[in-house]
Amino acid sequence: MAQRPVIVECAVCRQPLEHAEAGAEVRLYLGPGDKLAELWLPLCVHHAERFREAYLRETVECRVARVSDGHSR
Ligand SMILES: [Zn+2]
Repeated sequence: MAQRPVIVECAVCRQPLEHAEAGAEVRLYLGPGDKLAELWLPLCVHHAERFREAYLRETVECRVARVSDGHSR
């Protein structure tokens, strides 16, 4: 079976990445010491720059806009 190259897209705008390893590690906390997740977000150059700004601030605002378990809305 031939291996196809994996095209990695920006997690924000879905643009194919120039550098597959470009991205940001984001840690989400429900409260102090209560970690929800560590997520690696692949990012395009533009969004990597935006996330660099967030990284320098260290903490950013986050809102959970929707949650689904797949069974109900
Ligand atoms: Zn992007």
